[in-house]
Amino acid sequence: MSTSPYAFLEEKLRHGGNILLDGATGTELERRGVPMHGAAWTAEAVLSRPEVVLAVHGDYIDAGAEVITVNSFSLARHMLLSAGLEERFVELNEKAVRLALQARATKGRQVAVAGSIAPTTFCSDPSESFLGEEEALAAYRQQAAVLCRAGVDLLIVEMIGDILQGTLAVRAARETGLPVWLGYSCRRDRQGRLMLWDLQDSLADGVRAMAGLGGEAALIMHTEVADATVAFAELAAQWPGTLGVYAHSGVFVMPHWQFNDVISPRDYAAEAGRWLDMGARIIGGCCGIGPEHIRALGLMYRF
Ligand SMILES: [Zn+2]
Repeated sequence: MSTSPYAFLEEKLRHGGNILLDGATGTELERRGVPMHGAAWTAEAVLSRPEVVLAVHGDYIDAGAEVITVNSFSLARHMLLSAGLEERFVELNEKAVRLALQARATKGRQVAVAGSIAPTTFCSDPSESFLGEEEALAAYRQQAAVLCRAGVDLLIVEMIGDILQGTLAVRAARETGLPVWLGYSCRRDRQGRLMLWDLQDSLADGVRAMAGLGGEAALIMHTEVADATVAFAELAAQWPGTLGVYAHSGVFVMPHWQFNDVISPRDYAAEAGRWLDMGARIIGGCCGIGPEHIRALGLMYRF
């Protein structure tokens, strides 16, 4: 009898195993030549280049990833609104899930499929797109429900950059009943302090404020490799449950990722060793980090 993909992950964690997450979806599509939309980033890739999306998911599974992430980061309603693609919201999200499920079916491996919900993005601010909290919450609920119905095993709220939008998105995700992972993004302000991405709140304040919302794991994600260790230590001090890291490498100049200074797979794996030593149980990569980085992690550590 086979267990569900998420039950398999829980079983691994219970027995002391760690979980290998995939790397970036959006920047990996760009690296393979998929055009990025000026306002909606990777939103159209699932329709314009589905075979590349499928190949990216498949390559992560081949590299050893036990969780692959649906290309739905830029399919939030506020992103599609700003790009004039709003009427395709359901179609795009459903198609994105189908491609991840298809990749898993093709590879025939025990892999969980995570739906991505982004309460902020590089390019569109939900607080500017929506009239108020109710409208924003309704939009997150719609996306969570579509991803859930289409068959994802868990939801990752990615790039939590402020307390308000993060809270709304996590609430919406939790209402589906699916397991939810919280992905906090950090960067330094002008004084050098490590803050949540929108530079309004410290990470510690953010994690404390959102502690009551629940969730199955909390991760540092879309944070520079150089800052991820400090951020992870702060997260670990606040969050009593399962922890993880998937950092980014390179710089984003909307809508293009600059790959020039991306860390090598070997060096990224070495950095990840510190996160594992500090208690991270889920390790993967964000922007700039590709299948070869994930393969290097799988070779260097026990998952
Ligand atoms: Zn990223």
